[in-house]
Order: sequence, then C-alpha cells, then structure tokens
Amino acid sequence: MVANLGKEQPPAARRGARRRRPRRESALVWWVLFAAVGVAAWYLHSWRIALLGLLGWCLYEFLLVPTLCRVLTRQGAPCVERARGRLFACTPSHQHVKNDALWKLIGMRNPFRRRPAADDERGSGVVVHSANVRGRLVPADRAMILLAGIGTIVTVVGMVYGFD
Ligand SMILES: [Zn+2]
Repeated sequence: MVANLGKEQPPAARRGARRRRPRRESALVWWVLFAAVGVAAWYLHSWRIALLGLLGWCLYEFLLVPTLCRVLTRQGAPCVERARGRLFACTPSHQHVKNDALWKLIGMRNPFRRRPAADDERGSGVVVHSANVRGRLVPADRAMILLAGIGTIVTVVGMVYGFD
C-alpha cells in the first residue's frame, strides 16, 4: 500500500477529480491583512483606521471570502461547491435560493423573485427546494452575515457621527 500523505497529487488524479478546482488563496492571507490593520489602528490610536479595517472585514465577508455555497438542498445537506463571498452561491439557481434566504434573514420577502425557481441542473435529477428549506442558511453563515451587517452599521454610524 502506498501511503498517500496528501501532499503531492499527480496531475492526472487532479484532473480526474469531479470538478476542476483552481487553487485559491488561503483565508490566512486576508486575516494577516486585517491583523496588520488592527495593529496599525492600535499603534496609532486611530479609530479611523480601526473603522476602515472593520469595513474591510465586512466587505470581505460579504463579497470576497473563499467559502462554500452551502445552500441547503431538500435533503438538508449544504451544497459543497465553492463560492466567493457569503452573499454568493455557486450557480444562478442556488443564488436564487440564497437571495431568498438573505432577504428572510432581515425579515423580508425577496421583492425581486417572480417565480419559485431553483431547479438544480447539476446531475442527480431535479432538486426542488421545499418551502421550509428555502430561505435557510447554515448557522455559521447566518452568524457571519449578521456580524458583518452589524459591523457595516457600526462603520456607517462611526463615519457619520465620528468617535472621539
Ligand atoms: Zn450551490
């Protein structure tokens, strides 16, 4: 038996994988960046820099974080396709589901949705998202989106009123 240490995969095996997966930057890069901003804010005693760092982090969580789609399918299993930013999903159909979930998160119905969409075009037949599954986010995503939302509000309030 050949031990697979998971370090070097032969190219053939990589290409043979279910889906092409281009390498993405580690989230660590971003966290180092935010840590640097945090240190700079502390060092310079600047709430403005801290606020900018907070805003950067919020935008990062919303739009840039390398994450998974995690739309819940009818079976209740989250989609494991990659997505960038917690507001985004892997495919347009999953994006519909996610949009609904995001609107629901702030207690509203999606005003842009016209018809119940969301067929899953990828393999394994049609996935219809039942009403109680639609509009559900994975708890971790929900928490981070709410946190980033609060951060955004804090940033805006801070910019408008200014902290001393
Ligand atoms: Zn998906």
